Amino acid sequence: KPIVFSGIQPTGQPHLGNYLGAISNWVTLQEQAQSADETLLFSIVDLHAITLPQDPAKLRKERMEMATTLLACGIDPEKCSLFEQSKVPEHTQLSWILTCMTPVGWLARMTQWKTKLGVTKGAQSLEDVSTTAGLQLGLFAYPVLMAADVLLYKADKIPVGEDQIQHLELARDIAQSFNHYVKHPYFPSPRPIITETKRVMSLRDPASKMSKSNPSDQTRINLVDTPEMITSKIKRAVTDSIRGISYDRLERPAVANLVDIYAAMKRCSVEDIVQEHKDSSNAQFKEALADTLITKLRPIQAELVRLSKEEAYVHSVLDKGAEKAREIAYPNIVEIQKLVGLR
Ligand code: ATP
Ligand code: MG
Repeated sequence: KPIVFSGIQPTGQPHLGNYLGAISNWVTLQEQAQSADETLLFSIVDLHAITLPQDPAKLRKERMEMATTLLACGIDPEKCSLFEQSKVPEHTQLSWILTCMTPVGWLARMTQWKTKLGVTKGAQSLEDVSTTAGLQLGLFAYPVLMAADVLLYKADKIPVGEDQIQHLELARDIAQSFNHYVKHPYFPSPRPIITETKRVMSLRDPASKMSKSNPSDQTRINLVDTPEMITSKIKRAVTDSIRGISYDRLERPAVANLVDIYAAMKRCSVEDIVQEHKDSSNAQFKEALADTLITKLRPIQAELVRLSKEEAYVHSVLDKGAEKAREIAYPNIVEIQKLVGLR
């Protein structure tokens, strides 16, 4: 049975980028899963969250909030397993084995730890970066844990945003490295599935992606933002001084980002949006976009309010999810340990 795996970190507020780049894709996959006869595994990857320092009480709260948000967005525990990564210890067990088969050079080439530390590309040696920027081993090595996440289940389809393609390529290399080590084609090659809205950009800087970890809340629309916040953030989003609305990712990246968001939320094409708004002023266009966002997020927010009073239910969903995930993970880790000579 084909297996689909994807994860999301329980850090900060889930935003439109997560929703359009990941969560809404998960919901779509869920609708197709039965006829495609696929097993769906969606994980709240709390072990990834601690690759950057987290306040324990805040992390405890945000793990629950993420679970609640996913359920509110339409993740259905009858159709998938929703679980917390740390509750399936096989993730960490496999991660260590793979860590021993991953050259440091492969990790040094990854760009995301550099972004998260604010290191400019290719500027310094690994050693310089680790002393000046305080690079921790966990942040550096987290793509290995991510490889373990998907390989543990021998997942074939990985729905992610575009920012994760590099990590999935690495996961493929690590899988091969393992297969070579044990002289047995054990792991299949995990394939990314990218949503149409591959990359939602920051409202303040169209060159960087919308992120939970960006310190400025003005850069993103959170799924829980009130109508007033949405209106004000969209109003202040950067645009340009060209008249009318057109779509040009290179020449008008900020406007293109807003058009992309609009089209994805309305579930229509970019061309439709441009046609409808080609003579609109930036202000008129932004008002229409804000209205759409408010309308589309309203039912999710209502469900979120309802579910946040159902803590016991959310806990039971996560417990059952972890149990179902372990039904696959445990026999696999036993096989893996045998292959490596640990059993
Ligand atoms: P952080 O800044 O803490 O890394 P994040 O916003 O990148 O948070 P993640 O939990 O790392 O969120 O990613 C969850 C999923 O959301 C991944 O599949 C990722 O590719 C996707 N995703 C994150 N940001 C965007 C974005 N701006 N556009 C499209 N997809 C995104
Ligand atoms: Mg991320």
